[in-house]
Amino acid sequence: MNTSIKNCRKCGKMFNYMMGPPICPACREKIEQKFQEVKDYVREHKAASMEQITGDCGVERKQVEQWVREERLVFSDASPIKLYCEKCGAYITTGRFCEKCKKDTANNFSEAGRREGGSGSSADPGKGAGMKMHTFKG
Ligand SMILES: [Zn+2]
Ligand SMILES: [Zn+2]
Repeated sequence: MNTSIKNCRKCGKMFNYMMGPPICPACREKIEQKFQEVKDYVREHKAASMEQITGDCGVERKQVEQWVREERLVFSDASPIKLYCEKCGAYITTGRFCEKCKKDTANNFSEAGRREGGSGSSADPGKGAGMKMHTFKG
């Protein structure tokens, strides 16, 4: 187990830290409530800008961007907030990559796993600990 006492990044209270961002359960719940609020807001105000969302909901832009990256918050086509795939630049409505690049990445991962699993008693123990990202140019 890897628990330790940390100070909450939001309210400064000490709490039993386990994983993820250093935020205490109470603040986590508050963020969750805020998320529901923002989600409803975006659904009702499809054309709301980032400034309108952060202003009307009282939420930090960084927080909104995090929800987007986690694919929890989805913007409609009518939204002025445009997101682009970090890999190919295609227009997307949530997350960081378009469907195609997500599929490509998934394929690459499963292929690498298959190739490594099969043979060899000489695998060094450090392998697999650090994840390497391969970028393919084509
Ligand atoms: Zn807190
Ligand atoms: Zn892409």
